Amino acid sequence: MKHRLFIDGQWLAPVKGGTFPVVNPATEGVIHHAPAGTAEDIDLAVKAARRAFDTGPWPKLSGAERARYLRAMAEKILERKQELGRLEVIDNGKPLPEAVWDMEDTAGCFSFYAKLAEELDENPEEPIALSEPRFSSKVVREPIGVAGAIIPWNYPMLMASWKVAPALAAGCTMVLKPSELTPLTALELAAIAEEVGLPAGVLNVVTGLGPDAGQPLSEHPGVDKLAFTGSVPTGAKIMAAAARDIKNVSLELGGKSPFVVFADSDIEKAVEWIMFGIFWNQGQVCSATSRVLVEESLYPALLERLVAEAAKIRIGNGLEDGTLLGPLVSKGQHDKVLAMIERGHAEGATIAHGGKRPQGLDTGYFLEPTILTDMGEDNFVWREEIFGPVVCVKTFKDEADAIRMANDSKFGLAAAVMSKDKARCERVARAFRAGIVWINCSQPTFTEAPWGGYKQSGIGRELGKWGLSNYLEVKQITAFNSDEPWGWYIK
Ligand code: NAD
Repeated sequence: MKHRLFIDGQWLAPVKGGTFPVVNPATEGVIHHAPAGTAEDIDLAVKAARRAFDTGPWPKLSGAERARYLRAMAEKILERKQELGRLEVIDNGKPLPEAVWDMEDTAGCFSFYAKLAEELDENPEEPIALSEPRFSSKVVREPIGVAGAIIPWNYPMLMASWKVAPALAAGCTMVLKPSELTPLTALELAAIAEEVGLPAGVLNVVTGLGPDAGQPLSEHPGVDKLAFTGSVPTGAKIMAAAARDIKNVSLELGGKSPFVVFADSDIEKAVEWIMFGIFWNQGQVCSATSRVLVEESLYPALLERLVAEAAKIRIGNGLEDGTLLGPLVSKGQHDKVLAMIERGHAEGATIAHGGKRPQGLDTGYFLEPTILTDMGEDNFVWREEIFGPVVCVKTFKDEADAIRMANDSKFGLAAAVMSKDKARCERVARAFRAGIVWINCSQPTFTEAPWGGYKQSGIGRELGKWGLSNYLEVKQITAFNSDEPWGWYIK
């Protein structure tokens, strides 16, 4: 585990010398003291990224040359996936197979953007047809400049890759600020960048607290682009900071995503996908389908099966074989989720399963998978993101009712629909006001497809070609090709 920040290709102690404790959520033990970066370190990191962009080789390399570094990083991540996965487990709490899967996805993300970097070489310019024959025009795409990336704790390494890989592919240089709850793998990513010989200053990693390191990064005048994933309140602060000097900003925020299950669905498949939609990663998933809407006639049987299966989920330390539900990430998150369940219950929800610390797990931030029912549409738990293994289940009468309830949210990140009727699935998919829609499943995520939300779930899209565009400026170059005088002033 690293004790220093990675700035300008060097491992530096924070200017103020501070550290913050890193806690294993399964044991509540302090496993590390991570370097606490502050505004002074952010300033050094941004200046290093600025130099690497303004005078360094990185933005001028061909896409193919940059792709070589990205592929080398992907290979190193794959080589170390077990070890990095274990680090993620003791930092975040997730079960080891999920953490190893994250590492494979992270490597896949670097490989994917390597390919897109190469494609930039194949299409260096796009001719634009003009209505005026004396002019010609073309569009070229160029890296935005220095990117500041601020990420959350739920998929520490993967969320880093969703920003680092496309930014580097585009030719940007950057400063990455991971969450203070899960700083370990971001520093390992820096070590991997160093190992593959990424030029100094291209990727800088500063760990630290949100207000101490994240805020100065979002306010720094040397940053051209801010890419943020996290909560809505912090997203609003980032946007306000970006507004001061009109930084380009993309935001991936929270969600309260619906999963509409029609009565013709296979109950076993519905229960499996409902559980994958809310219990995977302890429900700490921005796109978690935490509001399940079930057609009335299917509801009693489905709820019975859901409760029975949720009761079988093996809860424990993510390093233990067979664990399917690890601890929540922190004491703060554990307290917050328990308080939300309590509030939902006080406002009329029934706790059909769970809702408390599992018996025999007195240490660690463990929580039973929780199923809430009978809540009104104005119940706090129906409307607000809980970010834990807590699903709210309600009934609907017909398709129009389901669509109305599904869309009645300030969020619009994801939505899912299940039915054997393909035409109905397609209709409902189109009717959802959400950026990601799943049919007959919930959560599978592909690097090739765009990721992001409507409404308060964010601005812009990550992943796919959209993720690369986040880090590219569009420049038109227009030429006057006629020998004739223009003749406006000088006749
Ligand atoms: P958070 O907003 O508390 O923190 C996110 C990051 O912002 C952390 O690195 C934190 O240190 C930093 N930060 C905090 N205050 C800051 C400030 N004033 N200025 C700049 N940076 C600051 O979010 P979290 O609790 O880490 O993550 C959970 C949230 O993230 C949930 O709402 C979830 O839905 C969302 N999320 C969204 C996606 C998505 O793709 N849409 C993915 C994962 C998580």
